[in-house]
Amino acid sequence: MRADPNELSTDQLYVSIVSADPPCRADPELFFEPDQRESKAQRALREQSAAALCLECPVYWLCLAYAVRTRPEHGIYAGYTPDEIQVFAKVYGPAA
Ligand code: SF4
Repeated sequence: MRADPNELSTDQLYVSIVSADPPCRADPELFFEPDQRESKAQRALREQSAAALCLECPVYWLCLAYAVRTRPEHGIYAGYTPDEIQVFAKVYGPAA
């Protein structure tokens, strides 16, 4: 049975996500900006590749709920950039 994100605290969401061993844990370089500069095209390819993995993630909905609540400033969460998550948060999330 799938957990309802609305019934979990932010900490519970995080623990549920991490304990599911999602694809991003195996390839964090794909989900977060590298230390060295990347071109716009490289960044787009990296983010699209990360987003493709998110679509198959077993905790996708938990991750999206976590991102909307925490509004990360870096990385790809549930296939979305921080700017995209900000838009979701303004529409669906609680006030930051
Ligand atoms: S949806 Fe994407 S970012 Fe979120 S836990 Fe799954 S693989 Fe990681």
